[in-house]
Amino acid sequence: MTFASICAHDFFSPQDYDAHGAHILPIHQTSTFIYPSARDAMAVFRGEKSSFIYSRWSNPTIAAVEHKLALLEGYGLGDGQDAMPLKALLFSSGMAAISAMLQAVVPPGGHIVTSGNIYGTTVELMQHPLRAQGITTTMTDLHRLEEVEKILKENTTHLIYVETPTNPTIDIYDLAALAALAHKYHAKLAVDNTFSSPYLQQPFKWGADFVVHSTTKYLNGHGTALGGVWLGKDIPFMTTKGWQMRKLFGGNSNAQEAWLLNNGLKTLPLRMEQHCRNARSLALWLQQHPAVAQVHYAGLPSHQGHALAGRQMRDFGGMISFVLKGGLEAGKKMMDKIKFCSLTSSLGTPDTLITHPASMTHVKVPAAQREQFGITDGLIRMSVGLESVEDIQEDLAQAME
Ligand SMILES: *Cc1c(COP(=O)(O)O)cnc(C)c1O
Repeated sequence: MTFASICAHDFFSPQDYDAHGAHILPIHQTSTFIYPSARDAMAVFRGEKSSFIYSRWSNPTIAAVEHKLALLEGYGLGDGQDAMPLKALLFSSGMAAISAMLQAVVPPGGHIVTSGNIYGTTVELMQHPLRAQGITTTMTDLHRLEEVEKILKENTTHLIYVETPTNPTIDIYDLAALAALAHKYHAKLAVDNTFSSPYLQQPFKWGADFVVHSTTKYLNGHGTALGGVWLGKDIPFMTTKGWQMRKLFGGNSNAQEAWLLNNGLKTLPLRMEQHCRNARSLALWLQQHPAVAQVHYAGLPSHQGHALAGRQMRDFGGMISFVLKGGLEAGKKMMDKIKFCSLTSSLGTPDTLITHPASMTHVKVPAAQREQFGITDGLIRMSVGLESVEDIQEDLAQAME
């Protein structure tokens, strides 16, 4: 079965079929599950018989979506044409998945190496609650592999944590090189694959040990539900310690939102193709616009990560950013004039989302610190949607006039 076919189908073998023959995955809106007899209940609780028990532990709707996500992330990476066997755990949000993964993989007193430009809330998680558990994080430039190796040599590191492409300059990091370095020093590599989805990039192909997503973004694809997934190839680890993190901290997903995610997944390849097509044509158009100083998009041959992204990804994604020559004032003016695109900070929805970090998401961050991470005053970030590209272009043109 191909990637697109896995996305489109809900059941992969007759054993998976719903008891009533439902064609579409049912929403199992129940907190608990019943047993026909005391003997059955005992067998289930003893672990001799596999069955659902309680929805914080697992639920048939959630399990079906986890199965699909594992097939997609491991697609074609196993023996022959098979998927690499993976275990996926679905969570209530991307942050629930990321925090469960970090706490399961990095022990108290442990050490993480990452870059300074990862998702802001993940930075906060590492710097505050994890720091309070004695977990330290070194933020460095993950392009500079000698520097990364030096850090690994000087510390007992448990995890390299990477996002690629990342905000706001659409940096591309070398997953194979980072996996090799991590493994050389007995550390693991975890990749936040939210910006790509498994359709564009499969980190397990390049040696990653763990993948996390905010499914809120491209995987759901419609802006209708929060969610997160944590996938791993060490299945005994995932089904014991990983599963325990979800069961004990209670960051589980729910049947409704898992179902909305599954619905979105059905069109993932079609959507990603169109996100990429639109982003590429807007990047080319912006590049020659007189109000624009610089465009960040890995699909442009001038981008520093163009060749690497070409090897590591199927296509260059739907996120672009660009810098207005007029700086802060031009950015604020542009946001006021935007009519067609939506003024907000998330990503991966059917409509185009636009933000000006210096006056919106990062307004409280001192200018000098913003600059350090490439969030210059004139920087505009866009999650390019599925609309006709002419409509997006027309809106940007009138707003930049
Ligand atoms: C949104 C996002 C997250 C956090 O996910 P939530 O679903 O909002 O908890 C993590 N990483 C990246 C790259 C994101 O874009």
